[in-house]
Amino acid sequence: MHIFDSHCHLDDRSFEPDFEDVLHRAAAADVHRMLVVGIDKRTSNRAVMLANKHPGIFASVGIHPHDAQSCTQETLTHLTALASDPNVVAWGETGLDFNRMYSPRKDQERWLIRQLEIAETLDLPLIFHERDSQGRLLEILEATASTCRSAVVHCFSGTVAELDRYLEMGFYIGITGIVTVSKRGKPLRQMIPSIPADRLLIETDAPYLTPTPQRNTQRRNEPAFVREVLLKVAEVRKEDPAALAEQIWDNTCRLFRIDPSL
Ligand SMILES: [Zn+2]
Ligand SMILES: [Zn+2]
Repeated sequence: MHIFDSHCHLDDRSFEPDFEDVLHRAAAADVHRMLVVGIDKRTSNRAVMLANKHPGIFASVGIHPHDAQSCTQETLTHLTALASDPNVVAWGETGLDFNRMYSPRKDQERWLIRQLEIAETLDLPLIFHERDSQGRLLEILEATASTCRSAVVHCFSGTVAELDRYLEMGFYIGITGIVTVSKRGKPLRQMIPSIPADRLLIETDAPYLTPTPQRNTQRRNEPAFVREVLLKVAEVRKEDPAALAEQIWDNTCRLFRIDPSL
């Protein structure tokens, strides 16, 4: 099988002690590719460094809505230069998070709009993070719509109506280990069968959102566990896991414009 973890944070300090083991366990679980997603200047730098060091790792650069408050034009100029690295395959994660409100709404919106412009100029697909924005992310995306925009809504947690609008805009939908969690994953499991097969992505968001059953024994998530996400999505869709893995691999490579052959 070929499994692609389309969203993880391997730059996280929790991976420092056993980084090579994490990669070995991923390979043993057929997870041959991973996208390390930047959330600020430091993690974007580290994502590119890791991608240049390890085959199978790709990088994105961007400013997370949580970090919008400390973003400056200089930060974005730095990230724009970083994005010329051939291993940078996307811009993000960017978006809106009105759940935690670590940054004021006006900062989140201002830097989201600026990052949409940069991604368009650089012709890079986007990685969106959305939580509890009450339709505001969709409003901004529709107001700034461009014909060439491609994107994934990572860790999708929206409503059926929001899902429909994302799909209409041609976006991909990223499914995390939340799908494996009995109560919290229920709405997601109900929506997954209606997502077109060619728009599905799977991800760990490691070190966060450890799936079941691993979450019973350990706190930290890692790319190998994206296999559990694949198996649950296949079960919910009543599809063969190996065939679904190939479909999702192709989707991920198409979105991020990576050669699908290993
Ligand atoms: Zn996120
Ligand atoms: Zn993330």
